[in-house]
Amino acid sequence: MDSEFRLRINRDSLAASRRSHGREQVYVFAHDGRPISLFEGGDFYQRGLSNAWLHKGRESVAGKIRRFRRSLPLEQAEARLRQIYADLSTQLAAGSFSPDQAQAVSTILHWTPERLREEGQQFAEIYQPISILPPDQYLGIVVQLTVGCSYNACNFCNFYKDRKFQVRSTEAFAQHLKAVQAFLGPASAMRKGLFLADGDALMTPQPLLLQALRLLRQTWPGLPIYSFMDAFRPQAKSPEQWRELQALGLNRVYLGIETADPALLAFLNKPGSPELMQSECQKLKAAGLNLGLILMIGAGGQQYAQAHFKASTALLQALPLDKNDFIFLSEFVPHPDQPYFEQALQAGLIPLSETELQQEIQLWREALKGLPAKCVPYHLQEFIY
Ligand code: SF4
Repeated sequence: MDSEFRLRINRDSLAASRRSHGREQVYVFAHDGRPISLFEGGDFYQRGLSNAWLHKGRESVAGKIRRFRRSLPLEQAEARLRQIYADLSTQLAAGSFSPDQAQAVSTILHWTPERLREEGQQFAEIYQPISILPPDQYLGIVVQLTVGCSYNACNFCNFYKDRKFQVRSTEAFAQHLKAVQAFLGPASAMRKGLFLADGDALMTPQPLLLQALRLLRQTWPGLPIYSFMDAFRPQAKSPEQWRELQALGLNRVYLGIETADPALLAFLNKPGSPELMQSECQKLKAAGLNLGLILMIGAGGQQYAQAHFKASTALLQALPLDKNDFIFLSEFVPHPDQPYFEQALQAGLIPLSETELQQEIQLWREALKGLPAKCVPYHLQEFIY
């Protein structure tokens, strides 16, 4: 039996909750009524601005309970929303809400599945596909100064192979910011940071990058700025240049380190070296920037596992990390459409089994637990924006 919805108007969001057939249900909406997430007793559904939905939960496979994350077909998400809206409408008509709550419910009901679809189309007009974000940035405001990755040749990476690298001019970037601002409207209030995309935005020539950061500060004053630096290149930016960016609000730089084992780096066709990684990270820390370091556990399979672990944990232990830094341990997933897949087969690499992968992650966590940086898992399958 369903209980009635209780509606909470929070500073950043609206939350409708109730118990239904013994299951707790919590539905969260932005202040302008757009759905953000639906929680139904163990199942969690999350909506991205692109109108894509993600479903996380647990399921039984061969007698074992395991977690899953998969995209939710739009029709199923819409059916759930329709049911929630119908129940909210009934309560609204029955006068169950205070005037403020009734107003909030009306804003939620405004976002019919049809309107949300239209919004998804607008999103596609404003953005090139957003291929990936660090896991702590899914609720940021993403803006694309660059499109794609200037290197784009790592053999495992499928993020930007569908597009040619471009840097937006200052004028085009200003237009893009206006479009993003209009698209988000009041919903931007719940977003606490700015993410400068795509993959390699920090490699934009410094004068253009400084202009971009100034525009960001004018548009969303006070929000911290985050970005990826993907491919390590010697002398990418001088210490003085990093300090300039930090002074304009750049807060954390996310680095796709992947591994500090030179042989595995070469196999992955990723530029850089452990020495360069160390000197660049030191430079960034000295400029007052926080780091988000991403490592791929399981890359190179069993043959590289030991050297990968040894070299990468040694690098991480040698860095001047503090409590504001993150280490992300990402489970490596080879994509059949990328060269790594075929090259690994030819090289006879044996991938880690699911159990071995989990053991490996545990080993890494043990080795890194004394560090002040937060060491957290990074599930690429959970990405949604
Ligand atoms: S540098 Fe990063 S974004 Fe570019 S191809 Fe390599 S992994 Fe992909």
